[in-house]
Amino acid sequence: MSDFNWCHGPQCHEKHTVDRVRGVKGSKVLRTRKVKHHHNNHWYSWFCSQGCYDDFANVHINDILAIAPRTECLETPIHQPKRERSQWGYINTTIEVDETRQS
Ligand SMILES: [Zn+2]
Repeated sequence: MSDFNWCHGPQCHEKHTVDRVRGVKGSKVLRTRKVKHHHNNHWYSWFCSQGCYDDFANVHINDILAIAPRTECLETPIHQPKRERSQWGYINTTIEVDETRQS
């Protein structure tokens, strides 16, 4: 496997930045950016920017959701939240996970 990927942003090659300019005089192009592969599953191994990641998700949102559809809510068991007034008058609410009820 090579140590880079082409950015998967569908409009990456249309963004006007000088680092995307390639080619010889008279036949210049804007080219998709290369992205360093980080050997993990983080999105930044596949996208050059948050914008390209968002563009990809917006184009492919139905396919992405089909991979892991959420048809029911999820819940994390917690203890009764503790509300305390700070010395400056703010209300601080402490929320702690109830590990004894973790499934
Ligand atoms: Zn990109």
